Amino acid sequence: MTLIVITRRKEMQQFVQEQKSKNKKIGFIPTMGALHQGHASLIKKSSENNDISIVSCFVNPKQFGAKEDLSKYPRQFEKDCEICEAHGAQVLFSPTVEEMYPSQFLTQVSIQKITEVLCGKFRPGHFEGVATVVLLLLNIVQPNRLYLGQKDFQQVQVIKRMCYDLALSTQIEMVQTLREKGGLALSSRNVYLTEDAKLSAILIPQALKEAATLFLSGERSVIKIEDAARKILKLRNLFPQYLEIRPTRDILLQITTQIEEECVFAIAQIIESQEIQVRLIDNIILSEDSKWQEVLKEFIKD
Ligand code: AMP
Repeated sequence: MTLIVITRRKEMQQFVQEQKSKNKKIGFIPTMGALHQGHASLIKKSSENNDISIVSCFVNPKQFGAKEDLSKYPRQFEKDCEICEAHGAQVLFSPTVEEMYPSQFLTQVSIQKITEVLCGKFRPGHFEGVATVVLLLLNIVQPNRLYLGQKDFQQVQVIKRMCYDLALSTQIEMVQTLREKGGLALSSRNVYLTEDAKLSAILIPQALKEAATLFLSGERSVIKIEDAARKILKLRNLFPQYLEIRPTRDILLQITTQIEEECVFAIAQIIESQEIQVRLIDNIILSEDSKWQEVLKEFIKD
């Protein structure tokens, strides 16, 4: 089936109604475009488990701060269509800003507390923008399943909380982070990285690998794991915006001594690349669960 490109909300809603009347299960992958193999892995998961997969490509101005890279955000419509089609999506929803936010748009979705830590601390208003657009998209697409990447772990937590609090029935599926050889998480923003900047960026997964290795060898001291990771970043004078271990069940609860429950170890690092400041994030899950331990073992092998 060739990819259907839809740009209007109404048309998208009509398509969804038709599919629902035929009892089709809908999987939804919201993105900001500039698709890469990381996005492709979400699309693939969705097409394996749903009748219809809908990808949205929308560079959402509400989730960018005044000094962030909204105008420079990479765009590649033709390639996005190819990636959607190649991985089994039937529809690409690609609305304009005016279509999503008509001039009288006054609503903002705000989730407290868990948006005030980690990325939320450095990107005021970011998660309000994310939550607003995701709720709007969920209302338009009404998917059975929503596919989100682990790379944006806090985003997954925020959207899960929003769906739970507002009694949305969409099931949320978190898909593991896809990485380049060497470990750098795929990101649309990687195109900004010069060769030299890449040598710095690669220290982010290396810091996480150091943490993973310590954790797998039995280390549970938060300070020891965080310090070891910080040391790796310092090799190229990198000082992260944050580098923190927090429980996954409620990322607000900052633990300071021992890892006694499943945690996320998350890093945000700005990499200077020529004139551009590239903000990269990444994380791993530190857990006693054998599934997550296998993920860590695979990660440190690469
Ligand atoms: P973005 O276009 O960056 O907003 O990302 C759209 C979705 O793709 C989000 O759920 C991201 O977490 C996910 N994603 C981005 N990069 C990756 C990656 N390297 N591996 C898996 N998922 C990713």
